Order: sequence, then structure tokens, then C-alpha cells
Amino acid sequence: MAKEIKTIGVLTSGGDAPGMNAAIRAVVRQSLFRGKRVVGIKRGYAGLLNEEIIEMDAKSVSDTISRGGTILQTARCMEFMTPEGTQKAADVCLKHGIDAIVVIGGDGSFKGAQRLAGLGINTIGIPGTIDLDIACTDYTIGFDTAVNTAMEAIDKVRDTSTSHERCSIIEVMGRGAGHIALWCGLANGAEEVLLPEKYDFDEQRLIDQVVEARKSGKQHYIIINAEGIGHSQSMAKRIEEATGIETRATILGHMQRGGSPTCKDRVYATTMGAMAVDLICEGKSNRLIAHSGGKFVDFDIDEALAMEKGIDEYMYDISRSLV
Ligand code: ADP
Repeated sequence: MAKEIKTIGVLTSGGDAPGMNAAIRAVVRQSLFRGKRVVGIKRGYAGLLNEEIIEMDAKSVSDTISRGGTILQTARCMEFMTPEGTQKAADVCLKHGIDAIVVIGGDGSFKGAQRLAGLGINTIGIPGTIDLDIACTDYTIGFDTAVNTAMEAIDKVRDTSTSHERCSIIEVMGRGAGHIALWCGLANGAEEVLLPEKYDFDEQRLIDQVVEARKSGKQHYIIINAEGIGHSQSMAKRIEEATGIETRATILGHMQRGGSPTCKDRVYATTMGAMAVDLICEGKSNRLIAHSGGKFVDFDIDEALAMEKGIDEYMYDISRSLV
């Protein structure tokens, strides 16, 4: 017989992302709607080990849906990754009567959820990362807000770049993945997108293209460089030296992680949060919620973590043909 679920915990783990609060709010309110007790676990797995557990009611999540960041805070925790740490976390759950946990985070956080599920704590993962680097889903909480923030910033850099007839390298986030860079490349009509998944280190080609573009009358040259490649400042210096064209690097940085979530991030995060609670109430565990093929679905975490995500080849091709 499936174990009875009385108390549901919720935590955010890994990097923060706009929309996480909408997901937390939905977990809390849907749990209450289903007649469950709900607790917030602060600072991810670190807070679980330190028993930073707070009772949540409907009011605890009032006025949070439009706020960026995460009201539960987030952390990375090495201790939890050891077998002793995971066992201690499961013991803390037992002590506090936590039967199930909704984990909002990325792949690393889901590995933790997988291990807790193995120790008898029902877990459901929600993809929360601006990087879009989770293979089983075409949506992750925060990506939409982050690419919109980056797009607006790049438009501004482009204006001044055109006025001064400069070459601009704009570095966007994404850790090892190039999804933010690719989307900005298309959204901003960049002349070049450099993605870790595709980078060939052929800087001479880049230099030749900058020179050719100037000859053909282009007033600026926008290069979107992904965080996973980095080195934007030194790249700018080398391009300027080789071409004689003034070249500046702008690293957008953490501004891309903050701000009020877009409508899409609020609605998708809310749906995923409520769905996590519904799955828990159905007795499910070790599942990951995803958006795939136009629908909200759930995957086994083991299967989801074994999938690989690449760059959309067609989108990459047109980022090069539409310049
Ligand atoms: P993300 O969840 O965004 O991928 P991290 O990779 O930093 O971020 O993971 C967040 C936290 O999840 C880590 O600090 C750690 O506590 C936990 N975690 C990561 N990898 C594992 C693992 N292999 N086993 C157990 N827990 C893990």
C-alpha cells in the first residue's frame, strides 16, 4: 500500500531563477487545497540538514508571484552529496514528519531528489534554471525572463555600438549551455553567436567576418558570446588589434537572474507547482515535471537524467544564415 502523505516540503536548490516564487506559491496553496500540511525548507539541501524548516500557510506566499529570486533562499551543499549527508537529510524528514518534498532546481538538485526517493522520501522535481539545460523539457523556470532581460540589454548595447561603429561582444549566462546565447542571437539579430556546443576556436574566421562586414557597410558587429566560452575581454582586445575596429566587451552577468518573472514564467511555474502536489497526492515519487510536445508531463527522474540535450540545429543554422 502507498504511504499516506500528510506533510509536503518544498525547497529551491542550485542557482535561483525568476518564477521560483510562483512555483513555491502554487505548491503551498495546492497542498492546502488538498488538505495537506506544507512546510518550506530554507537554503536548499543545506537548510534541510540544518533543520531550517518553516510552517507555511496561504499567507506565507502572499505577494510573491511577481517577485524574482526565491523567498526560501537557495544554496549549494556539498555535505548532502555524501551518503551520510543524504541519510541525515532523510532522518531530518522523518523527525519533522515530512513525507514528500518538491525540489525546484536543476540536474544537480534532481540527483539529490533521486537519492532521497531511494531512502523513502517521495520526491518530485520541477525544472528551475535560467539555463534551459534540462534534457527532458523544452521549458525551465526563469529562462523566459532571463532571455527577455538579456535581449533588452543587448538592444541598448546595439544602439551605442551602431553610433560608434563598433564591434561589440556581449557575454550572456548559461553555464555550459548555449541556449540563452542562441535565443539572444536570434532575438537581437546578432551577426555572430558563439556557443560552447559549437565553438571551433577559429578566431581568424571571426576577424575576417568583422572586416568583411565593415567593408559591406555594416555599422556595427554584434557577437553574442556564451558564458561557457567566456574570455570576452581578451577576445575583444585581439579582434580590435587584428581589425583596427574599436571592439568592446560587455558581460551582462547576474542581472539576467533577477527581476520580476514574465507572464510565461509565472504561468508555467504555477502549473508545475500545482502539478507536483497532485502527483504527490497520487502517490508518485522520483518524478520530474516537464513541458514537452506542447503539454505538461512527468518523467521518471532516472530516465530524465540519462537524456542529453543539444542545441536546436535549425535555430543554430538560421542564426548564421540571417546575418
Ligand atoms: P543545479 O540543481 O542548478 O544543477 P547544482 O548542480 O549546484 O545546481 O546542485 C545543487 C545541489 O544539489 C548541490 O549543492 C547538492 O547539494 C545537490 N546535488 C548535486 N549533485 C548531487 C548528487 N550527485 N547527489 C546528491 N546531491 C547532489
